[in-house]
Amino acid sequence: MQDYISQLNDAQREPVLQKDGAMIVIAGAGSGKTRVLTLRIAYLMQQGVDAFNILALTFTNKAAREMKKRIADIVGQSEAKNLWMGTFHSVFARLLRMEADKLGYPSNFTIYDSQDSQRLVSAIIKEMGLDKDVYKYKQISSRISSMKNSLITVRAYFNDPDLQEADAMARRPRFGDIYKEYVERCFKAGAMDFDDLLLKTNELLNRFPEVLAKYQNRFQYILVDEYQDTNHSQYLIVKALSDKFQNICVVGDDAQSIYAFRGANINNILNFQRDYEGVKAYRLEQNYRSTKNIVEAANSIIDKNKTKLDKVVWTANNDGPKIIVHRLMSDAEEGRYVAGSIFENKMQKQLGNDQFAILYRTNAQSRAMEDALRKRDIPYRIYGGLSFYQRKEVKDVLAYLRVIVNPKDEESLKRIINYPARGIGATTMDKLIVAAKHYDRSIFEVIEHIDRIDIGIASSTKTKLKNFVTMIKSFQALEETQSVFELTEYVIKKSALINELKKDGSQEGISKVENIEELLNGMRDFVEGQKEVDEARGSLAEFLEDVALATDLDNDKDTDDRVSLMTIHLAKGLEFPYVYIVGMEEDLFPSGMSMNTREELEEERRLFYVALTRAEHQAYLTYTLSRYRWGKLVDAEPSRFITEIDDQYLEYTTPMDDYRYKSALTDHLWDEPDKSKLRQRKPVSGKPPSVSRPSEDQIRKLRKIRPSSSSNSKLSGFEGNLEPGMMVSHGRFGRGTVVNIEGAGGEKKAEINFQVGGLKKLLLRFAKLDII
Ligand code: ATP
Ligand code: MG
Repeated sequence: MQDYISQLNDAQREPVLQKDGAMIVIAGAGSGKTRVLTLRIAYLMQQGVDAFNILALTFTNKAAREMKKRIADIVGQSEAKNLWMGTFHSVFARLLRMEADKLGYPSNFTIYDSQDSQRLVSAIIKEMGLDKDVYKYKQISSRISSMKNSLITVRAYFNDPDLQEADAMARRPRFGDIYKEYVERCFKAGAMDFDDLLLKTNELLNRFPEVLAKYQNRFQYILVDEYQDTNHSQYLIVKALSDKFQNICVVGDDAQSIYAFRGANINNILNFQRDYEGVKAYRLEQNYRSTKNIVEAANSIIDKNKTKLDKVVWTANNDGPKIIVHRLMSDAEEGRYVAGSIFENKMQKQLGNDQFAILYRTNAQSRAMEDALRKRDIPYRIYGGLSFYQRKEVKDVLAYLRVIVNPKDEESLKRIINYPARGIGATTMDKLIVAAKHYDRSIFEVIEHIDRIDIGIASSTKTKLKNFVTMIKSFQALEETQSVFELTEYVIKKSALINELKKDGSQEGISKVENIEELLNGMRDFVEGQKEVDEARGSLAEFLEDVALATDLDNDKDTDDRVSLMTIHLAKGLEFPYVYIVGMEEDLFPSGMSMNTREELEEERRLFYVALTRAEHQAYLTYTLSRYRWGKLVDAEPSRFITEIDDQYLEYTTPMDDYRYKSALTDHLWDEPDKSKLRQRKPVSGKPPSVSRPSEDQIRKLRKIRPSSSSNSKLSGFEGNLEPGMMVSHGRFGRGTVVNIEGAGGEKKAEINFQVGGLKKLLLRFAKLDII
């Protein structure tokens, strides 16, 4: 029984075995923080702590499920089942459902996802007659979100002249009015958005001391993974709940704090010791995940950050292969290289697809990877992007279900009231919205009483509205007796939604029908699963809650044998034997939008640290020389992050004529917080970097890498004496004759007439040419 304790090293064992008190484990990637948290829960339970008294907060629901499984193996399924474990959002949505009435919400409140919120904001901007080019709904939405995460309510906003002035200066003086209307409309719709799940929890705990006491007594032991990425609102909840018993264990890594842009506050880690009494701080230093090369390379990167806690990370693992750095011409070529490399590794080492992950900075980069993987018939799965549940056809079905559970839900009602078309047009809708405001009721309630009020709606339209209400009520009646699956099947037939889609015979239409089938499959699984696990759950409302809070990572399908594709942000906490980090280029990674201050640049660097430390056995870094950005093909240059890694951990599999960049970068960028200098680099075709000679070591390396089979002199960079008339050969374009030379220094270009490829203009600092 106790033998799981022997799966811990001495340093890990201490925080596991310290039953009570406040403790913080700060440690580098792969050092077993999540393992400590998991086994600590098992240990607490074995010490007699009731599962009901433990609350564990994780970064994804998937992580929570995995932890629960592990714990169940130790303490048994029936005990583990009672743990409260999940993301902040899912745990507190559940808590809010139990206490919703105190806040004037129905317990079956709807959760608006970000798409719903944005649609509502956009509708409000329109209704208020504001200019949508000035009041951009996405910006307004994200400002509302940051207000909520800083716990600035509408009232607080209007009490704060500074905030109002800031909005006036930003040419959006009506922001406060939009915010107010948005909050009122959500409330009237019985809906909470994602931020509300935290904001309202805070409100609940603040306003109702008896509720706070109840949950303080309930959650006697609180554990938080990835603590470095908690925001202010989350911090306050944890603080309030743990205040009485102060049995709190948080684990995290300041070097992996990557959500500052969403309000994560690194101070939550730094101030932890101040917030609780007698905090024990533990350090873990041994990494079990990765090879020595990877661990040490990652250390050499994070060393460049000034803002960090001092930490040691070492590993007893093998050196492992070096990190491969490979240069490509374009993103398409990059995709082919990665797919080819995965293919080779699979063949040579007999590996499954699930051993590989491709990580990128931005979602858009997945396309080139997907194309290449498809061509090679390598199965893959993309995480992030538009999740399954956000696809239009799926959301339409869900909107019906949401209205059944909560007819006040305005966003869902608007989606389905005239879909499929039933003659209820936009003008009618506008009148209903105005009436709802006037009578201070939800739109659905207005429709229910449409006979008794005169808002200028024709009687034929009134009949249509009444039919709609009757239909919804008939669905509601069924909900009580039917499973989610049966009900949905009935709803899509009865509402004519499925027929509408089937009429559309296009490929797109067919795939929409397939998606709805997939949704039904998921429901069947849900119904079956709930029967086994927990009979109390399994209602439509619970299904909708699961869906609303599902992130792509939560999908259990990832047990499939597929290559994983995701942004680095999503990869936090995960591990894969082979990791490809693609698009290692300036302006992309680090992102061009995050280079204005040292803080931003350091966050990008932490992101790179997270990416690299996902790899267990081998990491690949790829970059291209040109890339389409915002519809234009632009020159790209290798990311400073490649060159920041100590050379001894890298193997360049393409010739490195970029060495001169490396030295140039060292000179004026790495430690230079000066904004203007960073900006200088943005137009890649700007002035050439100042060249300092490569070191002897670098030169040796250059020689080694370059093919030395011919005695031809290789021109690399811009110092070669290329002249018109010379015959050259190029790796990709073959042989050709130099026609013209123009520019100087790093901008020197040669126009070459290739025998096969025709006339091409090449930037000499990148082109690899042999004189023949
Ligand atoms: P991250 O910072 O990336 O979240 P982490 O610190 O949470 O990493 P874990 O995911 O808990 O690290 O552990 C990394 C890997 O090392 C896992 O595969 C885990 O099973 C393994 N591991 C951790 N501790 C030990 C140990 N004492 N013995 C063997 N393997 C271990
Ligand atoms: Mg972890």
